[in-house]
Amino acid sequence: MRRAGAASGARVRRPASSERVRPPEAVGAGASVLRPVVAIVGRPNVGKSTLFNRLVGRRQAIVRDVPGVTRDRLYGLVAFDRWQATFVDTGGFDPSPEASLVDGVRRQVLAALAEADLVLFVVDARAGLTGLDREIADALRKAGRPVLLVANKVEGPAQEGELGELYELGFGEPWPVSSEHGRGVAELLGAARARLGAAAGPFVEPSRAPATSIAIVGRPNVGKSSLVNALVGAERVLVHADPGTTRDAVDTPFTYGGRRYVLIDTAGIRRKGKVTEPLEKLAVVMALRSLERCQVAVLLIDATEGLTAQDAHIAGYADAAGRATVVAVNKWDLVPPGMVRRGEVVEQLRDRLPFLDYAPVAFTSALTGAGLPELFELVDRVAAEARRRVAPADLRAALLGAVARRPITLGGAPLTIQSAAQVGVEPPVFVVRVNRPSEIHFSYARYLVNSLRRAFGFTGSPIRLIFRRAAGRRPRRSQR
Ligand code: GDP
Ligand code: GDP
Repeated sequence: MRRAGAASGARVRRPASSERVRPPEAVGAGASVLRPVVAIVGRPNVGKSTLFNRLVGRRQAIVRDVPGVTRDRLYGLVAFDRWQATFVDTGGFDPSPEASLVDGVRRQVLAALAEADLVLFVVDARAGLTGLDREIADALRKAGRPVLLVANKVEGPAQEGELGELYELGFGEPWPVSSEHGRGVAELLGAARARLGAAAGPFVEPSRAPATSIAIVGRPNVGKSSLVNALVGAERVLVHADPGTTRDAVDTPFTYGGRRYVLIDTAGIRRKGKVTEPLEKLAVVMALRSLERCQVAVLLIDATEGLTAQDAHIAGYADAAGRATVVAVNKWDLVPPGMVRRGEVVEQLRDRLPFLDYAPVAFTSALTGAGLPELFELVDRVAAEARRRVAPADLRAALLGAVARRPITLGGAPLTIQSAAQVGVEPPVFVVRVNRPSEIHFSYARYLVNSLRRAFGFTGSPIRLIFRRAAGRRPRRSQR
C-alpha cells in the first residue's frame, strides 16, 4: 500500500493500516490516537518536520526554509521492530503577528506536553544553542516529562565532537542525527523506545481485522470538521487559516467502540478554503481526493437545509468512485422533536438521490455526539458488505431467476445468460456473459442490480455489472 519509510538502514516504516498496529486503549468519548505519543518539539527551523517525515516515511509535513511557517500539527504512526508509537510534529503554531515567536513556541510546547508520553527536543547542532532553545528547555524541565535531546543536522562523526555545549540544557547526552539523510534515526528510535519502556506497555499482536478507512465528504458547513473533532479530538490537527499552502493529505488513525478506523485527509477536511477559491469547488476537490483512498464514504448533509445540487454532486462522485456509502443527516439536534419524521427524510433522500438508494441513512449530531454509534454500526456494515463474495452458483441462480421474472428480447432474441462471476470486491463487480451485451438497456441493468441486492444485500455498496458476449457457439445450452 504505502511506501516504506525512508530512514536509511533504519527499517522504519509507516505500517499499512492493516498491520502491526497495537489496539489502543480508548480514551475519552470512545476515540483515541494510538499511544504512546511522542511529540517532536523545538524552535522553528531546527528540522522537526524533516525528522517527522523521516520517521513517518511520507512527506506528511511541509518543510520550508522560512522560520515559523504555519503548519498543522501532524500525526503519524511509526512501527519499528515490534513497537509502535504515534509521532506528532508540533511545528505549526499560530503565526498571528501579535504573538511573539517565543510565545508561539511556548504555546506549541505546552500543547504538545499535554498529550505526550515522551518529548523529542530537537536542536540545530550546526547553528548552536539559542535563547529560544534555552527557553524551551526551561519549559520542558518544569513540565517534568521525559525528554530526549536530539542534535539535528549532524551529518558526520566530525560534527559529533562539537556537541559539548548541548549538555548545558540539562537533558543529558544529545542524540546526534541527520534527519535529512537518516543518519542516527534508527538509534534515536531505539532510545525513544527504551525510554518509554513500561509506559508503552507490551506489544500486543494486532487483530487481523484491518482498520476501515473513512472519507467524510459533503459541501461546506454541513459539519465535516465538527465530526472529525468529535471523533479524534479538537486539538489533534490544528487548523490554520493558511490558504496558500497545499499540504499533503494527513490521515488520522483512531478507534471507536474498540474498532480501528482511519480518517482520510483530516487536515483537508478542516482546512477552510481560499477566499479566491469558492468553498464549494474546494469541497468537491477534497471529496474527490479522499474518495480515491477510502473504503467507506460518509456523505454528510445538513438536516436544516435539505438537499442541494451540491450534495447530489458529491454523492455522485462517491457512487462513481465505487465507494460504500453511508448518508449522515447531520445537525439532527437542530430539528425539533416530532417536526420531521426520519422516514420522511429518507424518502426525500431516495427521491433526490435515486442513484444512491443503496446507502443507509444515519441521523447524527456532530455537536452532541448523538447518532454516532449508529453511524459507526452502518460504516462497519457497509464496509463488510462491500467485501462480500457470492458463490458462482448462487449468483447464477439469482440472475436466471431475475431474467425469468422479467424476460426481455434483444433484437428479436430473448436475453440469455451464459455465465456470471464475481470478479471484484469494494465494490462488488460481476461479469455476466450474455448473448447480446451491447443491447441491454440501462434500466434493465439496473433491474438486475436490484435483483442482486434483494438476493445478497450489498447494503451501502454500489454494484457493478459488466456484460460480455457469451463465449462459444451455444450460449442457450449452458442456460440449462
Ligand atoms: P522545523 O521548522 O523545525 O520543522 O524545521 P524543518 O524540518 O522545516 O527544517 C528546516 C530546514 O533545515 C530545512 O531547510 C531542512 O531542509 C533543513 N534540515 C532539516 N534537517 C536537516 C539535517 O539533518 N541536515 C541539514 N543539513 N539540514 C536539515
Ligand atoms: P464543514 O465546513 O463541513 O467542516 O462544517 P463545520 O464542521 O465547520 O460546521 C459548520 C457549522 O455547523 C459550525 O458552526 C458547527 O458548529 C455547526 N455544526 C456542525 N455540526 C453540527 C451539529 O451536528 N449540530 C449543530 N447544531 N451544529 C453543527
